[in-house]
Amino acid sequence: MESRKEQVDVVVVGGGPGGSTVATLLARRGHSVVLLEKEKFPRYQIGESLLPATVHGVCKLLGVTEEMEAAGFMYKRGGSFRWGTNPVPWNFLFSISPEYSGPTSNAYQVERARFDEILLRNAARCGADVREECDVTGSLQADDGRVTGVSYRDADGGEHEISATYVVDASGNRSSLWRATGGERKYSEHFQNVAVFGYFNGGGRLPEPNSGNILCEAFDEGWLWYIPLTDDLTSVGAVISRENASQIQGDREAALMKFVDRSSYVKDMLTDATRVNDDSMYGEVRIRKDYSYANTRFHAPGIVLIGDAACFIDPVFSTGVHLATYAGVLAARSINSVLEKSVSEERAFAEFDGRYRREYSVFYEFLSSFYHMDQAEDSYFWRARKVTNLPQSSFEAFVSLVAGGSSKERVLTDGAQVAERFARSAEDISRAAERTGGMETDSGQRMNHLFSAPVVREVMEEMNALQANSGEGTEVVEPPLLEGGLVPTPDGLGWAEPVSVPV
Ligand code: FAD
Repeated sequence: MESRKEQVDVVVVGGGPGGSTVATLLARRGHSVVLLEKEKFPRYQIGESLLPATVHGVCKLLGVTEEMEAAGFMYKRGGSFRWGTNPVPWNFLFSISPEYSGPTSNAYQVERARFDEILLRNAARCGADVREECDVTGSLQADDGRVTGVSYRDADGGEHEISATYVVDASGNRSSLWRATGGERKYSEHFQNVAVFGYFNGGGRLPEPNSGNILCEAFDEGWLWYIPLTDDLTSVGAVISRENASQIQGDREAALMKFVDRSSYVKDMLTDATRVNDDSMYGEVRIRKDYSYANTRFHAPGIVLIGDAACFIDPVFSTGVHLATYAGVLAARSINSVLEKSVSEERAFAEFDGRYRREYSVFYEFLSSFYHMDQAEDSYFWRARKVTNLPQSSFEAFVSLVAGGSSKERVLTDGAQVAERFARSAEDISRAAERTGGMETDSGQRMNHLFSAPVVREVMEEMNALQANSGEGTEVVEPPLLEGGLVPTPDGLGWAEPVSVPV
């Protein structure tokens, strides 16, 4: 069998949301990109609940907004949580966040097979050479250690090599290509959880207008997600602590149903439902464990890691696809800028690394705090911590964060909405909160300590400062996110040195 050798600008490994995002944004700038994907799409993946930052930010940048709308994905206005000791669920609506307060105040619950295929086909339409059923088997390295390409096996068993100026590892949590960075994968001590999940037909829905919300319900050993995917189909999963993992050995379905039985709202919603039990992609009860980690190196000469190949925290608040696609944007900017010789490699990748780690750290600290929030005193999993007196502005900040808008990256929000946000008075904001629901129970008392984590507090302070500086006559510019750092080019696809804009 003939073995091919090729040379391209960039080879992307993996066609999930991270890989498709970076491939699209590199091809858009005219660089030659080959994307190698092991599976034939559509393929199954978990991670169905999206954030507005992905839907209205990255998807808009990628040019798939209309396709997403036409796909008819479930409209997600926010989340409903039955968390901690309070028996009454509370809602957060994305519309309360200043970044996503208008027509962008939603996300979608997606069947990942369909969503990922939309992004992958779009990457091909934008000029990336997408090759499915191509399994990357290793990296190529120069004598000085620089990664110079990959080897792969195609569907017919042919072994090939592609040399590239950059390799982007977007191959998810399973592949080991990341080892070429010379870094380590550090598993989280905090999030040592296991998930067991399956699909149901005929499950109930939350009352309108929140029927498309994700519902998360805590029970003693962990929590359940309930994600409506279509009018009929629902994704249900239990996340439990590793100490309880022995409870899901053996019959997975029985284990999942046992956890459902511990809940009250999810159990109620599933009263008339039946688990999908056929040979479709939804017919299996699956398990994922050890999924929370971060690599010590997100890049090395010639290679950059994005999405689950680099890090993942936890399913609560649905940050996985956001982190993967945001990292895809950041990596594309760095590679575009270096290939176009507008920024040095060192500076471009320092910016990638700094922004990516910052986003990861904010969510990591926030989610750690959330897990410790308001636990049932007598349970193992939920150790108590009382939370009191949350001011309204903090709740907005909370929703901005969980919508994926905390970095203030213009590409993650809607430009018009951002401009509008700067013009809104505090009074408008509290009126919007009344209008949109906001805290629907006494949960306003529950969040305070979330903001005591240093990185989260820092982000909140930056957000307040940005709002305070947005008086009349001030031109809205995107400042560098990192001290001494770069700013995105106006098209969002590269980096530039910051310039001060006269007001
Ligand atoms: P992936 O989506 O994993 O894509 C990687 C691709 O690389 C795959 O298509 C794979 O086939 C391909 N590949 C792998 N190896 C090779 C190889 N050697 N050669 C070529 N191709 C290869 N995130 C959310 O946003 N919302 C949620 O509700 C959510 N729920 C979750 C629940 C659980 C239990 C878990 C564990 C995760 C959840 N996530 C969620 C996270 C989400 O699944 C991931 O963060 C997201 O899929 C990462 O995208 P990615 O593009 O990095 O990788």
